[in-house]
Amino acid sequence: MNKAVQLEENCYKVDLNEAPKLKVFTQRQLDKIPQFMRLPEEARKGVEVAALVFPFRVNEYVVNQLIDWNDWENCAIFRLTFPQKAMLLDDDFIALEKAYDEGDKESMKAHIERIREGLNPHPAGQMELNVPFHDGEPVEGIQHKYEQTVLFFPTQGQTCHSYCTFCFRWAQFVGDKDLKFASKEINQLVEYLKSHKEVTDVLFTGGDPMIMKTKALKSYLEAMLDPELDHIKTIRIGTKALTFWPYRFLTDDDSAELLQLLEDVVKAGKHIAIMAHYNHWKELTTDVAKEAIRQVRATGAEIRSQGPLLKGINDDADVWAKMWKAQVALGIIPYYMFVERDTGAHHYFEVPLVKAWNIYREAQKQVSGVCRTARGPSMSASPGKVEVQGVTEINGEKVFAMRFIQGRDPDWIQRPFFAEYDEKAGWLDHLKPAFGEEKFFFEK
Ligand SMILES: *Cc1c(COP(=O)(O)O)cnc(C)c1O
Repeated sequence: MNKAVQLEENCYKVDLNEAPKLKVFTQRQLDKIPQFMRLPEEARKGVEVAALVFPFRVNEYVVNQLIDWNDWENCAIFRLTFPQKAMLLDDDFIALEKAYDEGDKESMKAHIERIREGLNPHPAGQMELNVPFHDGEPVEGIQHKYEQTVLFFPTQGQTCHSYCTFCFRWAQFVGDKDLKFASKEINQLVEYLKSHKEVTDVLFTGGDPMIMKTKALKSYLEAMLDPELDHIKTIRIGTKALTFWPYRFLTDDDSAELLQLLEDVVKAGKHIAIMAHYNHWKELTTDVAKEAIRQVRATGAEIRSQGPLLKGINDDADVWAKMWKAQVALGIIPYYMFVERDTGAHHYFEVPLVKAWNIYREAQKQVSGVCRTARGPSMSASPGKVEVQGVTEINGEKVFAMRFIQGRDPDWIQRPFFAEYDEKAGWLDHLKPAFGEEKFFFEK
């Protein structure tokens, strides 16, 4: 470990002198995972075939310390990282399995492409609607949908330490080049921000920007300290490294410099918000995860948590209540509960809106006010972030009460609206306006 920069004193049982190497496994290396090889053959085959379609990458930390292999069938972290047979429709699975068994590369490729095409790889019009123009040219690597916040996709931060089976940006990990928002040019970002004084937040996202070497991240973050970017008050970094590779903040070659960088940017007067993706309290149970959180917070950065609600992983109020409590105990601020987007194996992970609201409500009931800061369940849909406020009855009609948390048009924000109650609806476009209206107000 580089001792030039000292870490905070270690308070959990983590050997900071032992630096585990990030060892990852992909579809072709499934047979190198001993715990996986002990599963029944049918289960292994299901994963092997599903992982041809969905991005699969898991590392040794997740395999050895997070997954409960003794109860793998019910393990949320196993489902979070290992694609499951049922994520494919039966006919698709059978066809692909046949081609795979026969070693027919052409046929496999054709099936994989066809199946992926059918999984709505381009949700919420991200490519067409959110990419801004500067001097008449589209700005590469940027999305600017909501007035105050610009999303930036640094080129080197477009993969992850492990992949989530339900990832809404899954298409970029399976080689759909068109979907990479990755930017080569930090200058373009700085120029864009200089001419957009309404922007207060820059969100570095991916993939996972924490996959980058500190040196690369530093060049991006330091660019935000330009005196002409005084209007940028908050730098957010979207990451799942606190779950998938907490060693990033503790024992990697450049982790001490990473913490130093966060501290320096905070000292320069910017708020750093680590937007940590969490799905389950299990992710917070290891000493190394807790110590990483502690070290990050010691830099003056805040950690906010967000993540989608997923069938079979966390569709249980107790899981959310326990997760929020564990987060707050560690100093993390719960931020959003998302509804899973309608992409990828949506049929497998989908939780109907009414159920999502009940889970949210039952979880909120179990925790104190400091844990109730997560808004949701929220859909990041094309018109904006739409929250299900609840189910109620107005003049004898059962309806969903909804509101915009964010809107493509800022005037929509915080406007309540009503939709016909629908037990099965799982996304905004499944809903119809209540009270016999033709259209929702934002569609007019
Ligand atoms: C969620 C989101 C943001 C950030 O919204 P906040 O409510 O400020 O957290 C920004 N841009 C896009 C495209 C988003 O989906």
